[in-house]
Amino acid sequence: MSVDLNKLIIEEALKGLSNGDFSSVDLVKSSLNIISEKEGDIHAYLEVFDDAIEQAKKADEERKNGGKGMLLGIPLAVKDNILIEGRRVTAASKILEGYVAPYDATVIKQLKKEGAIFIGRTNMDEFAMGGSTENSAFGVTKNPHDLSRVAGGSSGGSAAAVAMGSVLGALGSDTGGSIRQPASLCGVVGLKTTYGSVSRFGLMAMGSSLDQIGPFAKTVGDAEILFKAISGHDEMDSTSLPDDFYKTESKKDKLVIGVPRNFIFTEGIDKEVLSNFEKSLNLLEKSGAEIKDIDLPSLKHSLAVYYILMPAEASTNLARFDGVRFGLSEDGGDVLGSYMKTRGDGFGREVRRRIMLGAYVLSSGYYDAYYNKANGVRALINDDFKKAFSSVDIIATPTSPVPAFKIGEKSEDPLSMYLADIFTVPVNLAGVPAISIPSGFTEEKLPLGIQFIAGHDREGILFELGKKFESIRE
Ligand code: GLN
Repeated sequence: MSVDLNKLIIEEALKGLSNGDFSSVDLVKSSLNIISEKEGDIHAYLEVFDDAIEQAKKADEERKNGGKGMLLGIPLAVKDNILIEGRRVTAASKILEGYVAPYDATVIKQLKKEGAIFIGRTNMDEFAMGGSTENSAFGVTKNPHDLSRVAGGSSGGSAAAVAMGSVLGALGSDTGGSIRQPASLCGVVGLKTTYGSVSRFGLMAMGSSLDQIGPFAKTVGDAEILFKAISGHDEMDSTSLPDDFYKTESKKDKLVIGVPRNFIFTEGIDKEVLSNFEKSLNLLEKSGAEIKDIDLPSLKHSLAVYYILMPAEASTNLARFDGVRFGLSEDGGDVLGSYMKTRGDGFGREVRRRIMLGAYVLSSGYYDAYYNKANGVRALINDDFKKAFSSVDIIATPTSPVPAFKIGEKSEDPLSMYLADIFTVPVNLAGVPAISIPSGFTEEKLPLGIQFIAGHDREGILFELGKKFESIRE
């Protein structure tokens, strides 16, 4: 039986599967059909797994035998920096071409336990460094809404895989916006979870104090289901929160939404982004929320802080790619020569740029001026959020300052690409959760997104407001 995956959401697919309306094999066949129809244009995937139908058959069998996994038989895609045992994983880098994951990431173990089907691994900016998926060593992912434009990044492949209708959900990672920004540019929901709520074990580290794995989905309800499946304590991740971190929210009559106007209404933010944001605030107000102006004075330093701390952590994390332990290995005569040749050939331009930046800000003589100072300002940004959340439940901003831009438009200008992270980066610095939800379209029919940010461990309130917003948006 053929199922229209474009319209289907996880919640309904689970009902359909348990009623016997269709099987998981039906779902996966539809998924593979969409991929063979659209993937040639979009290039969301680095690999489509050839055992997807086999996995679906097993899930159907399990369901017949009373299997109760919360994602039993649901097709998902996985960003190519999350390890699935026995499958290739490259972080879209030449340095890891052909490398096979020796174990499952904790999130993958959890999804396997819940019965999910893995359709394939998705394209991304190399080692998650970028905002357009143009930094992949294996070609750019195109936006399903306009093939001349980027899908966003770094998890552009996962966002596009969901937006093109090939899977019902996907995993991405978010260090400075890499789930929320591509979600916004592709018109799907993306959730960056509270730091420590989802295990990072088996995620290729970029900036360890900032990285979080999270879901893409078509609706807030589906993102919530995926979040429940992948969150929880993991002894393999020393920054993992205890199991009871997640607070059940008591429903409030009136949610107070804080809007940092001074931070949002500045130069360089697209006019249509701003007018769409205003419209969304009006709708929320009409539906009973209170909108309150707030000041977050240190947030203007977020990008500067992020682009010191993230490269510092990334340069340290990427030191392990030495041409001996993983992937590419080239002969440069002696040990140092081989190290330099392997890394010079294996890493792309953006990755090398960040390794150099990171090594510089950590070098003796500059450590205090850059790294330590940035850490100090990070604490101020944290304080801003803490203060704000004593008087508001949620903070709202646009997700991205611009809609999907043309392929090639920013790739020669790293600074303008970095500016696209302006609204997402502060969230990672503070470790709080945030969600991007589709909020409409530009005149050219490009998707736009609104970002809701909550205090630590308060994903619940994001889901509550997010569902409300889905019911009132145009
Ligand atoms: N665009 C940001 C960067 O290039 C975010 C990346 C991410 O979240 N992985 O650093």
